[in-house]
Amino acid sequence: MLHSLRARLLLTYLAVIAVVLGVVAVALAVLIVRNPAIYRRVYARQALALQIARRRLEAAPREGPALAWREADRIAEALQARTWVLSAQGKVLHDTDPAAPPLRLPALSGREQQGRLRAADGSLWAYSAFRLRSGSWLVVAEPLPRPLAMLWRNRADWLVPLAEAAALAFLLALVLAWWLSRWVARPLHRMAEAAHALAEGRYRPVPEEGPQEARLLARTFNAMARRVEASQRSQREFVANVSHELKTPLTSIQGFAQALVDGTANDPESVRTAAQVIADEAARMHRLVLTLLDLARLDAGTADLRRETVALRPLLENLRLHFRPQAQAAGVRLTLDVPADLTITGDGDRLAQVFTNLLDNALKHTPRGGEVGLQAHRTAEGVEVSVRDTGEGIPPEAQKRIFERFYRGDKARSGGSAGLGLAIAREIVRAHGGDIVVRSTPGKGSVFVVKLPA
Ligand code: ADP
Repeated sequence: MLHSLRARLLLTYLAVIAVVLGVVAVALAVLIVRNPAIYRRVYARQALALQIARRRLEAAPREGPALAWREADRIAEALQARTWVLSAQGKVLHDTDPAAPPLRLPALSGREQQGRLRAADGSLWAYSAFRLRSGSWLVVAEPLPRPLAMLWRNRADWLVPLAEAAALAFLLALVLAWWLSRWVARPLHRMAEAAHALAEGRYRPVPEEGPQEARLLARTFNAMARRVEASQRSQREFVANVSHELKTPLTSIQGFAQALVDGTANDPESVRTAAQVIADEAARMHRLVLTLLDLARLDAGTADLRRETVALRPLLENLRLHFRPQAQAAGVRLTLDVPADLTITGDGDRLAQVFTNLLDNALKHTPRGGEVGLQAHRTAEGVEVSVRDTGEGIPPEAQKRIFERFYRGDKARSGGSAGLGLAIAREIVRAHGGDIVVRSTPGKGSVFVVKLPA
């Protein structure tokens, strides 16, 4: 429970509220204690009382000590304060509260004086003193108000509003925590569910909602899930394709083998034909399996490619020699334009296989009278070799798929091939750190460009 986002948020809010309230309370207390206005009122009252007393004394025809005493008593009563009459030398002539503990009065000078003094019990007193015409002093003193004690005495006034404010803040924190946690947690919950579904093979996109980070996560999750789904689909297709490709030769082999076993093929000619078909189909299956193994190794990165310096021109010239009979039979011109000094680093046999597949395709798809050209040149990134033909071209939607395993454009025309030629060519080139791209205009021809890094 405490580990949930909601609880954490709520606790955090409560902590922040408590800290803020505490800081404000301390600041207010300091402000109240330090506030000079509280004391100013006391001094003003004392000064006023003393002034009235002095006026009255000065208005009297003769200012005797008895008059001053009477004024002192009057002030003491009006202010509920302690009042003294001191001689010019500071001797106490009259004290309105002689029973109270003595206060050490400060030395007085000038016409009037105000200040604070500390009593024997530690309490602070405010005093005001006026000099009379006779030279004696009238002094009034009272304990200073204690703001905190006052505050405590009046706690009923502020404790209730404070409790109300705290309750309101708590409610607000509760609502905010609930809302915020829902905002953050809901998309996470949904993603967890979607991930769970994905693990069980069901793909469903999660909505992009909540805070920016959660949206980014949802977007990334969706992209990943789409890829996982695509790869699962292609895996299923791959298995189906392999089974299908193996089924056809196996059916032939089974049929002819059965004919040999039950004696249906009884004359030497039929026996020879059956044996030949079995051998051919077995060889086809063997090739297919070898190619698949090869693809698997390239996929896993365990196909060990040699890294040697390969001179491109001899390699491509060799290929041209190899394909010349096929080109002549097809009535297609085979040209070569490769600089003599062009070299690449890689596995020569594997690269020869790439260009073999491309040339084979180009010749197969170019009609009589056409041309297939091999060109190579250096680029900023490395070397580009292109295989160009003036054949039927490849429609745009097919261009996206021709590199897929088992993809065959025209099933009838591709005959015995399995649709793996371009797939393996691309894997080999990618294993070299390069790539193959295709450009094609239907009806005009195609170019396959093999880009290899320097
Ligand atoms: P396969 O040649 O065994 O069918 P590939 O992977 O080599 O398999 O090629 C896949 C498909 O791409 C071919 O079936 C064909 O439709 C198309 N294709 C490849 N090269 C060319 C080309 N030069 N011109 C037209 N179509 C091509």
